Amino acid sequence: VSPLSDAADLEPLLEGIMDEVAPLKQEGEVNDYIPAMDHLDEENLAIALSDVNGNEVAVGDADVEFAIQSVSKVFALALALEKVGPDLWERVNREPSGDPFNSLVQLEHEEGIPRNPMINAGSLVVADVLLETCGDAQVELLDLMQRLAGDDLAIDDQVYTEERRGGDRNRAMAHLMGSFGNLTHEVDEVLDLYVHHCAVRMTTRQLARAARFLANDGVDPTSGDVIVSEPLARRINAIMLTCGTYDAAGEFAFSVGLPCKSGVSGSILAVVPDRMGAAVFSPPLDDSGNSNAGREALHLLSERLDLSIF
Ligand code: GLN
Repeated sequence: VSPLSDAADLEPLLEGIMDEVAPLKQEGEVNDYIPAMDHLDEENLAIALSDVNGNEVAVGDADVEFAIQSVSKVFALALALEKVGPDLWERVNREPSGDPFNSLVQLEHEEGIPRNPMINAGSLVVADVLLETCGDAQVELLDLMQRLAGDDLAIDDQVYTEERRGGDRNRAMAHLMGSFGNLTHEVDEVLDLYVHHCAVRMTTRQLARAARFLANDGVDPTSGDVIVSEPLARRINAIMLTCGTYDAAGEFAFSVGLPCKSGVSGSILAVVPDRMGAAVFSPPLDDSGNSNAGREALHLLSERLDLSIF
């Protein structure tokens, strides 16, 4: 039985959730530290579900494209783990940070080993590993995302250019990790790959689709390709659950109960093991850097469709 066999019947339910959470858009703030993202429309709101059998349902602005930002960290992690396996854990930990995504403080105390691969510092190490292990890391990672999304994907050139030039905090982290010997490439090179995958544009519908390999034991349901082994897929889900929404990961586990990954453009990707990928989009963020209306939408979705893994 398809997890979404009654997809048509789900539309009213999803529309109802959108109506309920819409007022929360006003209580969040669209990020302003990346000016090239000022085109984000704070009124946009979308929910998309894509199941492992190929059924999809999407409501709202589910076909609006945006730079997926930190959600891309999941795909980068999958590729790196597929390349180097457990060796990755010598260079990045698997503990929630309890700090914002771009925090520097723990790195000094913990000798250049980032808390987890879902925060910026950890993802910079992942980028360094990809530079080491891929022929052309930018091309290979984009190719993976395109295969998972089932479409060609574009890069948001303005976001890419701006974050490549600036990114003082990310640069600072990279240099600090380098000083502890936890970066093998030039800071510019690492940053270039990292901001490139952050600038990949997707729609909410494509994100839900791209999440499905993690709901399907590491296998992309469309192509049957093994993206990562089953044990690795489980571990990526564990890391998303505990670290994917930064300092709000505990609250997400409590109120949503699914592995999630958020990004500063206002999208959140969620994995419903054995069933489907889900994604929500609404640019205004809460204090922890997660979509304000998106968080509540996932909470209601999980509650009403009984999706929590707990
Ligand atoms: N590219 C952004 C940064 O490095 C990603 C942050 C995010 O989405 N939370 O700051």
